[in-house]
Amino acid sequence: MRTRHKIGLLLLTSTAMIAPAAAQQGQPNPNQVAGKAILQAADAAIGASKVHSYVASSTGWRGYPGQQFAQGDLPRTDLKSNVSSIDFDGKSAKTEYVRVQGNNIPRGGGAGFPVQGEQQFAEFVNSDIAWNLNPQGQPVRQLATEAGDRQLAIWTNPIGFIKAGLAAPNAAATDHYYGRTNRTVKVVAYSVKVCDGPQPQCTRRLTGEFNNDNMLERVIAWVPDPVLGDKMVEYRWSDYRDVGNGVKYPFRLHAHMGDHPLIPGGHNYLDLRTQDVKINAADAAQAVPDAVRNAPVPTQTNVVSTQLAPGTYLVAGGSHNSVAVEFKDFVTVIEGPLSNQRTNAVVAEVHKLFPNKPIRYLVNTHNHFDHLGGVRGFVAEGATVITDDRNRNFYQQVVLAPQQRTLQFDRLSQRPFAPTGPGTLELQTFTDHYTISDGNQIIELYHVDGLNHSDNMLIAYLPKEKIVVNADLYGPPPAGGNLANVSNNAVVLYRNLKRLKLDVSTHVPIHGNPGSNADFERIVGPVAARTPQQGDGG
Ligand SMILES: [Zn+2]
Ligand SMILES: [Zn+2]
Repeated sequence: MRTRHKIGLLLLTSTAMIAPAAAQQGQPNPNQVAGKAILQAADAAIGASKVHSYVASSTGWRGYPGQQFAQGDLPRTDLKSNVSSIDFDGKSAKTEYVRVQGNNIPRGGGAGFPVQGEQQFAEFVNSDIAWNLNPQGQPVRQLATEAGDRQLAIWTNPIGFIKAGLAAPNAAATDHYYGRTNRTVKVVAYSVKVCDGPQPQCTRRLTGEFNNDNMLERVIAWVPDPVLGDKMVEYRWSDYRDVGNGVKYPFRLHAHMGDHPLIPGGHNYLDLRTQDVKINAADAAQAVPDAVRNAPVPTQTNVVSTQLAPGTYLVAGGSHNSVAVEFKDFVTVIEGPLSNQRTNAVVAEVHKLFPNKPIRYLVNTHNHFDHLGGVRGFVAEGATVITDDRNRNFYQQVVLAPQQRTLQFDRLSQRPFAPTGPGTLELQTFTDHYTISDGNQIIELYHVDGLNHSDNMLIAYLPKEKIVVNADLYGPPPAGGNLANVSNNAVVLYRNLKRLKLDVSTHVPIHGNPGSNADFERIVGPVAARTPQQGDGG
């Protein structure tokens, strides 16, 4: 009886304490009042509320995050055209663009880079469903994270920012003084939902900076990234012009993606100059095609493993492969691509293939984020990452460091190692050549010379099995087949194999299926023979 009485009292006390707070909840605080006032003034200035949709046609250039040749700014292509359709009411959008290499340095990675001729893209979102058109014009559903990024982009232009801010219950304003430019801007901050799934993964926070004329100059938002954690995207809007009916639109956009206090320099992502804007265009809304709506949401967890040689397995089933190699007391995995989600699936498979053996080493072929996104999960598993010495600072200070991952936590961020404990993370780097061996099984790692794709690329060679593993250099056709196009990367692989005098019988790519060295010699050999060596001046 006494206990019960006590509980009742406690409940009563807590209710009494909550009551005044609840009464205040309906009352906006002074920062929220200020936020509303700025957003209303900004709405009056550019007529955001009158805009239900728009179609903007622009030209400019675009950078490719996570595909740098070396640390520094992003590789770039020109945008011959970029048509952005946004339907605010239906939360749908379409971006169609045509990219060309232009005068941009053809160094760096990503599918189809460097660009030969013109390449067309069409990317869509409707609420939390994203899809692209493939080269055959068929719609293909994209990852949920992609949908989140595209949904967020609806709200990071001035019209969207003002509309979403006016609708957000938590929009609040503060002044921010920038010492470098000696000026104060009014910063409005709020969060917006990009999907109906769990929080906080479906919530994105944004800030917008307004000048004294209540024009939005800059929007900063954060997106989840497997490599960088919470990744900053910055949009600078300018050159506002009248586009009719009291609506003003910014004809210039300059954007950065992935700027980071520990990574030197800016990461230029997008630069657009708009030629034409149609407000409230009839065809701006994007309906989800049935084929997309009925398609399963793509995941990165499908795993299919096949034996390449005794103790050596290809772990495939997705866009990027890994290779698992058994040693006496441990396993080495070559490549931890994509994401934490992918790594969890690969690790589970490796443990099934080799029960009771720890994964001691994770070999990372190069710095591109699609090949790097899963390494944190391997470090959480206890593995040491082996990579080129050029990656040391970036991996140590940024990729593997504890930092904010509020939008998409992973195994390493949830359970980071105590920095002085027994399990500190390890990174093993090399410049030309590195050997993993237990006296019986051997993996040789070699730096790839003369490559434009990345300055820190390695190939892995298993001398006993005569297998060479490459990323982004050569994807074999079906046995006896041909390739539509022999890339310069394949020629560089050919020259490196000759330089290193490696005796190869099987090529195992990170993208695609293994193939024979006979096919490689037949397909790439003649192209290499007639391609001048870099620096030959020929
Ligand atoms: Zn790459
Ligand atoms: Zn790749």
